[in-house]
Amino acid sequence: MLPPHRQALADRLDWLVDWLYPPRCRACRGRIAGRDSEYFCSACWSQIRLVSHPLCTVCGRPFLDASGDDHLCGVCLSRTPRFVSARAWACYPREEITEDPLRQVVQKFKYGRKVSLGKSLGQLMASGCREFLNERRVDTIIPVPLHPKRLRWRGFNQSVLLARQVSRAYGLPMDPFVLVRDKETSAQTQLSEEERRKNVRGAFSVQSAASLNGKTILLVDDVYTSGATVNECSRVLMQAGAKKVSVLTLARTIS
Ligand SMILES: [Zn+2]
Ligand SMILES: [Zn+2]
Repeated sequence: MLPPHRQALADRLDWLVDWLYPPRCRACRGRIAGRDSEYFCSACWSQIRLVSHPLCTVCGRPFLDASGDDHLCGVCLSRTPRFVSARAWACYPREEITEDPLRQVVQKFKYGRKVSLGKSLGQLMASGCREFLNERRVDTIIPVPLHPKRLRWRGFNQSVLLARQVSRAYGLPMDPFVLVRDKETSAQTQLSEEERRKNVRGAFSVQSAASLNGKTILLVDDVYTSGATVNECSRVLMQAGAKKVSVLTLARTIS
Protein backbone atom coordinates (compact mmCIF):
# COMPACT_ATOMS: atom_id res chain seq x y z
CA MET A 1 0.00 0.00 0.00
CA LEU A 2 1.22 3.53 -0.79
CA PRO A 3 1.89 6.03 2.02
CA PRO A 4 -0.87 8.74 2.28
CA HIS A 5 1.08 11.53 0.48
CA ARG A 6 2.01 9.24 -2.43
CA GLN A 7 -1.57 7.99 -2.60
CA ALA A 8 -2.85 11.60 -2.84
CA LEU A 9 -0.41 12.23 -5.68
CA ALA A 10 -1.48 9.03 -7.44
CA ASP A 11 -5.16 10.04 -7.11
CA ARG A 12 -4.41 13.47 -8.59
CA LEU A 13 -2.55 11.88 -11.49
CA ASP A 14 -5.54 9.59 -12.11
CA TRP A 15 -7.78 12.64 -12.25
CA LEU A 16 -5.45 14.39 -14.72
CA VAL A 17 -5.36 11.33 -16.98
CA ASP A 18 -9.18 11.17 -16.92
CA TRP A 19 -9.35 14.83 -17.87
CA LEU A 20 -6.87 14.46 -20.73
CA TYR A 21 -8.37 11.17 -21.92
CA PRO A 22 -12.08 11.05 -21.09
CA PRO A 23 -13.00 7.61 -19.76
CA ARG A 24 -14.27 5.01 -22.21
CA CYS A 25 -16.67 2.18 -21.46
CA ARG A 26 -14.63 -0.83 -20.32
CA ALA A 27 -16.83 -3.15 -22.40
CA CYS A 28 -17.66 -1.40 -25.71
CA ARG A 29 -15.13 1.48 -25.64
CA GLY A 30 -17.98 3.98 -26.09
CA ARG A 31 -17.76 7.38 -24.40
CA ILE A 32 -19.03 7.51 -20.83
CA ALA A 33 -21.46 10.37 -20.37
CA GLY A 34 -21.87 12.14 -17.04
CA ARG A 35 -24.63 10.06 -15.53
CA ASP A 36 -23.39 6.58 -16.51
CA SER A 37 -21.51 4.38 -14.12
CA GLU A 38 -17.89 5.31 -13.59
CA TYR A 39 -16.63 2.52 -15.83
CA PHE A 40 -19.45 1.59 -18.21
CA CYS A 41 -21.63 3.47 -20.69
CA SER A 42 -25.33 3.47 -19.87
CA ALA A 43 -26.17 0.82 -22.52
CA CYS A 44 -23.66 -1.67 -21.11
CA TRP A 45 -24.32 -0.72 -17.50
CA SER A 46 -28.04 -1.43 -17.88
CA GLN A 47 -27.19 -5.00 -18.99
CA ILE A 48 -24.93 -5.81 -16.07
CA ARG A 49 -26.74 -7.97 -13.53
CA LEU A 50 -25.54 -7.14 -10.06
CA VAL A 51 -25.85 -9.94 -7.53
CA SER A 52 -28.66 -9.10 -5.13
CA HIS A 53 -30.81 -10.76 -2.48
CA PRO A 54 -32.32 -13.28 -2.20
CA LEU A 55 -29.29 -15.50 -2.62
CA CYS A 56 -27.78 -18.73 -1.30
CA THR A 57 -26.41 -18.12 2.19
CA VAL A 58 -23.33 -20.23 1.39
CA CYS A 59 -22.31 -20.02 -2.29
CA GLY A 60 -24.00 -16.66 -2.98
CA ARG A 61 -25.96 -17.91 -6.00
CA PRO A 62 -28.63 -15.28 -6.68
CA PHE A 63 -32.22 -16.53 -6.94
CA LEU A 64 -33.16 -14.35 -9.88
CA ASP A 65 -36.75 -13.15 -10.18
CA ALA A 66 -37.50 -14.46 -6.70
CA SER A 67 -38.46 -12.67 -3.53
CA GLY A 68 -38.11 -13.61 0.12
CA ASP A 69 -35.19 -14.41 2.37
CA ASP A 70 -31.77 -15.83 1.57
CA HIS A 71 -31.62 -19.61 1.89
CA LEU A 72 -29.43 -22.58 0.99
CA CYS A 73 -29.43 -23.61 -2.68
CA GLY A 74 -29.83 -27.24 -3.78
CA VAL A 75 -26.14 -27.58 -4.66
CA CYS A 76 -24.96 -26.48 -1.22
CA LEU A 77 -27.62 -28.60 0.45
CA SER A 78 -26.35 -31.73 -1.24
CA ARG A 79 -22.64 -30.97 -0.80
CA THR A 80 -21.50 -28.45 1.80
CA PRO A 81 -18.61 -26.36 0.46
CA ARG A 82 -15.36 -25.99 2.43
CA PHE A 83 -15.75 -22.20 2.53
CA VAL A 84 -18.31 -20.55 4.79
CA SER A 85 -19.69 -18.12 2.24
CA ALA A 86 -19.04 -16.75 -1.22
CA ARG A 87 -20.14 -13.57 -2.92
CA ALA A 88 -19.74 -12.11 -6.40
CA TRP A 89 -20.25 -8.56 -7.58
CA ALA A 90 -22.27 -9.43 -10.69
CA CYS A 91 -23.33 -12.43 -12.73
CA TYR A 92 -23.77 -13.56 -16.33
CA PRO A 93 -25.20 -16.67 -18.02
CA ARG A 94 -22.90 -19.68 -18.19
CA GLU A 95 -23.67 -20.32 -21.84
CA GLU A 96 -22.53 -17.69 -24.27
CA ILE A 97 -25.94 -17.05 -25.81
CA THR A 98 -25.94 -13.28 -25.83
CA GLU A 99 -23.10 -10.83 -25.69
CA ASP A 100 -22.83 -9.85 -22.07
CA PRO A 101 -20.77 -6.73 -21.29
CA LEU A 102 -19.35 -8.17 -18.09
CA ARG A 103 -18.28 -11.42 -19.79
CA GLN A 104 -16.69 -9.31 -22.55
CA VAL A 105 -14.71 -7.29 -20.01
CA VAL A 106 -13.60 -10.37 -18.07
CA GLN A 107 -12.37 -11.99 -21.29
CA LYS A 108 -10.55 -8.84 -22.34
CA PHE A 109 -8.94 -8.68 -18.92
CA LYS A 110 -7.80 -12.31 -18.84
CA TYR A 111 -7.17 -13.30 -22.42
CA GLY A 112 -6.64 -9.89 -24.02
CA ARG A 113 -4.10 -9.22 -21.26
CA LYS A 114 -5.61 -5.82 -20.44
CA VAL A 115 -3.82 -5.39 -17.14
CA SER A 116 -5.23 -1.88 -16.75
CA LEU A 117 -8.74 -3.33 -16.29
CA GLY A 118 -7.66 -4.88 -13.00
CA LYS A 119 -7.91 -1.61 -11.16
CA SER A 120 -11.42 -0.62 -12.29
CA LEU A 121 -12.84 -4.13 -11.94
CA GLY A 122 -11.21 -4.58 -8.55
CA GLN A 123 -12.66 -1.27 -7.36
CA LEU A 124 -16.14 -2.25 -8.58
CA MET A 125 -15.90 -5.56 -6.73
CA ALA A 126 -14.56 -3.92 -3.56
CA SER A 127 -17.22 -1.23 -3.36
CA GLY A 128 -20.09 -3.34 -4.71
CA CYS A 129 -19.53 -6.08 -2.12
CA ARG A 130 -19.19 -3.69 0.83
CA GLU A 131 -22.07 -5.30 2.76
CA PHE A 132 -20.49 -8.76 2.47
CA LEU A 133 -17.02 -7.48 3.38
CA ASN A 134 -18.19 -5.40 6.33
CA GLU A 135 -20.03 -8.38 7.78
CA ARG A 136 -16.87 -10.44 8.24
CA ARG A 137 -13.59 -10.02 10.01
CA VAL A 138 -10.78 -10.85 7.59
CA ASP A 139 -7.18 -11.42 8.67
CA THR A 140 -5.62 -12.02 5.26
CA ILE A 141 -6.65 -11.78 1.63
CA ILE A 142 -5.34 -14.61 -0.55
CA PRO A 143 -5.74 -14.47 -4.34
CA VAL A 144 -6.28 -17.78 -6.17
CA PRO A 145 -2.82 -18.51 -7.63
CA LEU A 146 -1.97 -19.35 -11.23
CA HIS A 147 0.43 -22.13 -12.18
CA PRO A 148 3.89 -20.54 -12.80
CA LYS A 149 3.70 -21.57 -16.47
CA ARG A 150 0.34 -19.84 -16.95
CA LEU A 151 1.64 -16.81 -15.06
CA ARG A 152 4.62 -16.54 -17.41
CA TRP A 153 2.35 -16.81 -20.42
CA ARG A 154 -0.20 -14.24 -19.22
CA GLY A 155 2.30 -11.99 -17.49
CA PHE A 156 0.03 -11.30 -14.54
CA ASN A 157 -2.40 -13.01 -12.20
CA GLN A 158 -5.83 -11.42 -12.61
CA SER A 159 -6.86 -12.47 -9.09
CA VAL A 160 -3.89 -10.63 -7.56
CA LEU A 161 -4.87 -7.43 -9.38
CA LEU A 162 -8.47 -7.71 -8.15
CA ALA A 163 -7.44 -8.63 -4.60
CA ARG A 164 -5.06 -5.66 -4.46
CA GLN A 165 -7.99 -3.25 -4.78
CA VAL A 166 -9.87 -4.93 -1.93
CA SER A 167 -6.73 -4.84 0.17
CA ARG A 168 -6.33 -1.11 -0.56
CA ALA A 169 -9.98 -0.20 0.01
CA TYR A 170 -10.32 -2.05 3.32
CA GLY A 171 -6.76 -1.76 4.63
CA LEU A 172 -6.40 -5.55 4.80
CA PRO A 173 -3.12 -7.40 4.23
CA MET A 174 -2.81 -9.55 1.12
CA ASP A 175 -0.57 -12.60 0.82
CA PRO A 176 -0.15 -13.71 -2.81
CA PHE A 177 2.61 -16.22 -1.98
CA VAL A 178 1.26 -18.53 0.73
CA LEU A 179 -1.00 -20.55 -1.58
CA VAL A 180 0.60 -22.04 -4.70
CA ARG A 181 -0.66 -23.92 -7.70
CA ASP A 182 1.48 -27.00 -8.29
CA LYS A 183 -0.58 -28.73 -10.94
CA GLU A 184 -1.35 -27.22 -14.29
CA THR A 185 -5.04 -27.97 -14.73
CA SER A 186 -6.73 -28.24 -18.10
CA ALA A 187 -9.33 -25.65 -19.08
CA GLN A 188 -12.54 -26.31 -17.17
CA THR A 189 -15.04 -24.77 -19.56
CA GLN A 190 -16.23 -28.02 -21.10
CA LEU A 191 -16.14 -30.11 -17.94
CA SER A 192 -19.03 -31.29 -15.79
CA GLU A 193 -19.17 -30.33 -12.10
CA GLU A 194 -17.78 -33.72 -11.05
CA GLU A 195 -14.97 -33.50 -13.63
CA ARG A 196 -14.11 -30.00 -12.44
CA ARG A 197 -13.74 -31.24 -8.87
CA LYS A 198 -11.41 -34.05 -9.99
CA ASN A 199 -9.51 -31.68 -12.26
CA VAL A 200 -8.48 -29.34 -9.42
CA ARG A 201 -8.01 -32.02 -6.75
CA GLY A 202 -4.48 -31.74 -5.40
CA ALA A 203 -3.68 -28.75 -7.60
CA PHE A 204 -2.84 -26.40 -4.72
CA SER A 205 -0.56 -26.43 -1.71
CA VAL A 206 0.44 -24.10 1.09
CA GLN A 207 3.96 -22.67 1.46
CA SER A 208 4.03 -21.86 5.17
CA ALA A 209 1.17 -23.24 7.24
CA ALA A 210 2.30 -21.24 10.29
CA SER A 211 1.13 -17.97 8.70
CA LEU A 212 -2.40 -19.38 8.30
CA ASN A 213 -2.91 -20.79 11.77
CA GLY A 214 -6.25 -19.61 13.19
CA LYS A 215 -6.63 -16.99 10.47
CA THR A 216 -9.84 -15.94 8.76
CA ILE A 217 -9.13 -15.84 5.04
CA LEU A 218 -10.76 -13.99 2.18
CA LEU A 219 -10.03 -15.90 -1.02
CA VAL A 220 -10.30 -13.77 -4.18
CA ASP A 221 -10.85 -15.03 -7.72
CA ASP A 222 -12.15 -13.53 -10.96
CA VAL A 223 -15.08 -15.81 -11.81
CA TYR A 224 -17.02 -18.35 -9.76
CA THR A 225 -18.37 -21.04 -12.09
CA SER A 226 -18.93 -24.36 -10.31
CA GLY A 227 -16.96 -23.26 -7.27
CA ALA A 228 -14.61 -26.26 -7.69
CA THR A 229 -11.45 -24.14 -7.72
CA VAL A 230 -12.24 -21.97 -4.68
CA ASN A 231 -13.54 -25.04 -2.86
CA GLU A 232 -10.28 -26.91 -3.39
CA CYS A 233 -8.27 -23.83 -2.31
CA SER A 234 -10.44 -23.59 0.81
CA ARG A 235 -9.90 -27.27 1.59
CA VAL A 236 -6.11 -26.83 1.41
CA LEU A 237 -6.17 -23.62 3.48
CA MET A 238 -8.36 -25.20 6.18
CA GLN A 239 -6.12 -28.27 6.26
CA ALA A 240 -3.15 -25.96 6.82
CA GLY A 241 -4.84 -24.48 9.89
CA ALA A 242 -6.97 -21.58 8.63
CA LYS A 243 -10.00 -20.96 10.84
CA LYS A 244 -12.46 -19.92 8.16
CA VAL A 245 -12.45 -19.12 4.44
CA SER A 246 -14.81 -16.73 2.65
CA VAL A 247 -14.73 -16.22 -1.09
CA LEU A 248 -15.07 -13.04 -3.12
CA THR A 249 -15.21 -12.99 -6.91
CA LEU A 250 -15.82 -10.30 -9.48
CA ALA A 251 -18.37 -12.40 -11.36
CA ARG A 252 -20.22 -15.65 -11.15
CA THR A 253 -21.98 -17.59 -13.83
CA ILE A 254 -25.63 -18.53 -13.57
CA SER A 255 -27.34 -21.35 -15.39
ZN1 LIG B 1 -20.51 0.26 -23.26
ZN1 LIG C 1 -25.42 -22.45 -2.67
